[in-house]
Amino acid sequence: SLTVGVLALQGGFSEHLDLLRTAAHHISSTDAASKTDFTLLEVRTEEQLARCDALIIPGGESTTISFVAAQSGILEPLRDFVKVQKRPTWGTCAGLILLSDEANATKKGGQELIGGLGVRVHRNHFGRQIESFEANMTLPFLDDQGAQAGFPGVFIRAPVVEEILATNDSRPPVEVLAKLPGRLNKMKPGVSQANTKDDSGDIIAVRQGNVLGTSFHPELTKDARIHVWWLKQILGQQ
Ligand code: GLN
Repeated sequence: SLTVGVLALQGGFSEHLDLLRTAAHHISSTDAASKTDFTLLEVRTEEQLARCDALIIPGGESTTISFVAAQSGILEPLRDFVKVQKRPTWGTCAGLILLSDEANATKKGGQELIGGLGVRVHRNHFGRQIESFEANMTLPFLDDQGAQAGFPGVFIRAPVVEEILATNDSRPPVEVLAKLPGRLNKMKPGVSQANTKDDSGDIIAVRQGNVLGTSFHPELTKDARIHVWWLKQILGQQ
């Protein structure tokens, strides 16, 4: 059995739980080899975190999430979960920021991060006037589930990975899983077509060992393909 938690301090945690439920049902009903029982839970305490085999950190406001995490004493356990126990952890948007080793300085100064991805993110990369947009993306890593059917990429005051940091530790290399096409770097609001095979643009999905980060919010769509892909990877690793 696999226990998957969603950090439920702030942001889109219930949306992630909905898609995890869909994905778990999909895997149980289509994958004959998988007899896995999934347990899904909201995580607010160190005790709840300790029950998890894997964790999602949702989108929301990264400064709020890290402030509440520090106040409630779960920040250090989260660092241990990701970096010492190396359990599978996926962050979307604010979650990507929290899972990065560095975030660019903001007006209010730095913020406490969990870390785990050897990258520096640029918060609110697409600026204020174009706070959100949706791009129909081709995600090559979804190939076993039909990457050709575009994935609805929802970007809300989204970060991008602006630099992959040189690490002198024993972590595996950072893999770039998807980029926005260069022509979308200065995107206007609205729906655009994005083909992430054009790799001249901003990095919007990375993985390093047990840690996955995406700039966009699959949890704000009905598309569970990334959740299915992530869960299947975890099952394969076990
Ligand atoms: N801009 C937010 C932050 O810095 C992230 C936005 C989001 O998660 N949608 O935390």
